[in-house]
Amino acid sequence: MSKAASLRTGAEVLGALQDQPGGPQLLELADGRSDVELVGGAVRDLLLGGTPRELDVVVADDAAAFADELAHRLDALAGRSSRENFQSSSHERFRTALVWWDGSRIDVATRRSERYPQPGALPEVLEGTPEEDLQRRDFTVNAIALPLGGAHRGELRTVSGALEDLSAGRLRVLHDHSFIDDPTRLFRLARYRARLGFAIDELTAGLVGAAVSSRALDAVSLARIGAELRLALSEADMVAALTSTEGLGLLKALPVQLRFDEQIARKALALLSEAGGDIRPDLLLLTLLLAPPRYPLEYDLYEEKRNDIVWFLSGLQLTAPDRDVVLRALTEGGELAGGLAAAQEVPSRIYDAAARASLEAVALVGAITAFQVADDGPVTLAARRWLTELRHVRLQITGADLLAAGIPEGPEVGRKLDAALARKLDGELTGERQAELRAALEA
Ligand code: ATP
Repeated sequence: MSKAASLRTGAEVLGALQDQPGGPQLLELADGRSDVELVGGAVRDLLLGGTPRELDVVVADDAAAFADELAHRLDALAGRSSRENFQSSSHERFRTALVWWDGSRIDVATRRSERYPQPGALPEVLEGTPEEDLQRRDFTVNAIALPLGGAHRGELRTVSGALEDLSAGRLRVLHDHSFIDDPTRLFRLARYRARLGFAIDELTAGLVGAAVSSRALDAVSLARIGAELRLALSEADMVAALTSTEGLGLLKALPVQLRFDEQIARKALALLSEAGGDIRPDLLLLTLLLAPPRYPLEYDLYEEKRNDIVWFLSGLQLTAPDRDVVLRALTEGGELAGGLAAAQEVPSRIYDAAARASLEAVALVGAITAFQVADDGPVTLAARRWLTELRHVRLQITGADLLAAGIPEGPEVGRKLDAALARKLDGELTGERQAELRAALEA
C-alpha cells in the first residue's frame, strides 16, 4: 500500500471551493445558514487535493428552492454577455434538485434518512437528521460533510473512521447489510476502486463475496444495472472500471453473463483510436462484454443467445441506433472476420468485407483475432489498414460524371463507380480524374 495521503483541512477545502465552478456563489448563498453542507464525492475529492466532477450539497429542507436560488445567482453574476445557460430541475420523490450549465453541475439534496423496504428496491426517503444523512451513504470516504455557513463553518463532520480511511485509501461500507440493501453499491465500489486507486477493506471484501454468492444482484432491476454499467463506461479509464467490476465477480452474476478481458479491450481500443474521428469506445466495450467465448469465429453460438441479448440491451436503455451497433457487431462479427481473412491483404477485398461494418466492430474483430489466432495476422492487419487508411479512399468522380458521359441513369452507374473505386483502392489508377472516369466507363 502507498503511504497515507495527507488531507486538506476543512478550511482549506473552503478555500479550494472558491475555485470550483459555482463555488463562490454557493458559499455566498450558504453564508448565515447553518444547514448547507458540501458532501459526498465533492468533499472527498477536495480533501484529497483533487477536482470533483460535480458539487454535492445537502440542505435541511427544500432542495428545489435552493437550486432555483443558486441558478438565479449564477445567472445574475454571469452578466448579460454570458452565453452560459443556467438551469435547474428537481426530483420530488427523492427530494433532490440539480443546477447545471455548460459542463458543470451542482447536485442539491434535502437532508434525509433512507429505508429499504426490500433488498435491491429503491429506498423510501424520509426526513433525517444530519447524522442520519451521513449514515445512509455507501462508503465511509463518501460520508463526510463540510458545513458551508453558520457557527460550524469549515468543521468537517464524518462517520467514524472516515478521514482515516480516506487518508489510507480504503473503501469501507458503513454497516454489514449495505450491499444487501442496495446491491448497486457493488458497482459503485468497483468504480471507486478503479478511479481512486483505493483498496477494499477486508471486512467489506468479505461482504462483497457474500452478497455476490447469495445472488443479491438478482433483486436489482435491469434498468438500474444498465445505469451502473453506463457509469462504468463513462469513466475516464473505462477499461480499468470494467476490470475492477469483473474482478469483484459482478459481471458473471448478471442475468446475461458478461465477460471481460482487459488485454483484448486495451488492444481493441488502441486499434479504434488509430481510426480517429467519431468513434464510440463504449459501444465497442459493450460488444466485447456480450461476446460469447469463441466470438467472432463461432458466431453461431451467438445466434442461440440472440433473444437474451436483445432483452438485455433493451434493459440497458441504450438508444436504438447504439443498440443496433452492438447487435450488428455481434451478429456479423464472424462474417467480418472471415471476409478480412479471405481478403488476403487485397485492399478492394478488405473494402468489400469492412465497408458495411461499424468502426467499432472492425477494431474489436481485429483485436480479438490477434489473441485467438496470431498477433498481426491477416485479420488484424486488414482491420488496421481499413481503419487508418482504406476507409478514407474516395473517388473524385461522381455519378453525375457518368451521366454526362452518356451512361443512362440506373444501377449500372453504381456498379461502374464501385468498379472504379476497387481499382483505385488496389493502386491501379493514377491520381487523375480522367483515369477514374476511364476505369468506370470500361467496367
Ligand atoms: P462521483 O465522483 O462518481 O460523482 P460521488 O461520490 O459524488 O461520485 P454520486 O453518485 O454523485 O457520487 O453521489 C453523491 C453521494 O451520494 C455519494 O458520495 C454518496 O455519499 C451518496 N450515494 C450515492 N449513491 C448512493 C448509494 N447507492 N448508496 C448510498 N449512498 C449513495
